Amino acid sequence: MNKIMRKSILAAMSVAVFALGSTAAMADSKNPKIGFSIDDLRVERWARDRDFFVAAADKLGAKVFVQSADASEQRQIAQIENLISRGVDVIVIVPFNATVLSNTIKEAKKAGIKVVSYDRLILNADIDAYISFDNEKVGEMQAEGVLKAQPKGNYYLLGGSPTDNNAKMLREGQLKVLKPAIDSGDIKIVGQQWVKDWSATEALSIVENALTANNNKIDAIVASNDGTAGGAIQALASQKMAGKVPVSGQDADLAAVKRVIAGTQSMTVYKPLKLIASEAAKLSVQLARNEKPSYNAQYENGVKKVDTILLKPTPLTSANVNILVADGFYTSAQIGSK
Ligand code: BGC
Repeated sequence: MNKIMRKSILAAMSVAVFALGSTAAMADSKNPKIGFSIDDLRVERWARDRDFFVAAADKLGAKVFVQSADASEQRQIAQIENLISRGVDVIVIVPFNATVLSNTIKEAKKAGIKVVSYDRLILNADIDAYISFDNEKVGEMQAEGVLKAQPKGNYYLLGGSPTDNNAKMLREGQLKVLKPAIDSGDIKIVGQQWVKDWSATEALSIVENALTANNNKIDAIVASNDGTAGGAIQALASQKMAGKVPVSGQDADLAAVKRVIAGTQSMTVYKPLKLIASEAAKLSVQLARNEKPSYNAQYENGVKKVDTILLKPTPLTSANVNILVADGFYTSAQIGSK
């Protein structure tokens, strides 16, 4: 065998070895299994998140197992444990309670499973990544929308669920915008309350009580999402105040978009769910394949600075509601616009 032949045989062998190595690696990660543990699929937006996520993951060759905890932290823990024992490669979690998952996530990590925090940040746990819309910015948009419609008077702050880290981030954003008006005395915060489980019925009774306590002298309500805004507007309606008191929201829920068009809700915030869901599916598959996702932010969660993909929200009023149709979020028939 001459020198050149020996060289080319060696080269061919190394290609073969490389090919073997890479097929072996790819066999594991070609069709990754992803567990998707969602706080509450009974809520409109999360069902859409699920559908977009499953469709995107499917296109990338992944299989998704979906679980809904229906707003129970025990159920969510049991479901995540179940996903761990199924041997999934990645678990994507919309946490009901941000602070109770540390041990469960420790188990997942021990089993070599990657963990992604979806929309809501999981605190005090060694998670691999976080993906969300900029929640502080959403809070700013909510306060800006209400302040523009009602620059003076008595304000009520209707917060999100006390177990959801987003509720706190939203409040920070809201207060950042309201502070100058509070300091100058233009507006006065007459009350504030967190709404358990983001429940619309809970929001309704909170606002009913707030109206009674203030002799209906509430001029604006900064509500943290569309579900709770719906409850607040129902309470206002029974006092014939709907449409007179600005109310904010977020999610562009169909009912909320109709209220924005009708003028009983001042604004909502549009967060394209197809975008977050498909980016999250891509991120999960990349983690399963040990590839490097590209991040654009980091959030401290008590254990580490978590690599984050932060997406941009858009404020929505009756003036730009048609972007929902242009974006394919709703049809014009659904929202009744031209
Ligand atoms: C999400 C909102 C949602 C709320 C209630 C928050 O964490 O960011 O989009 O409306 O949870 O489900």
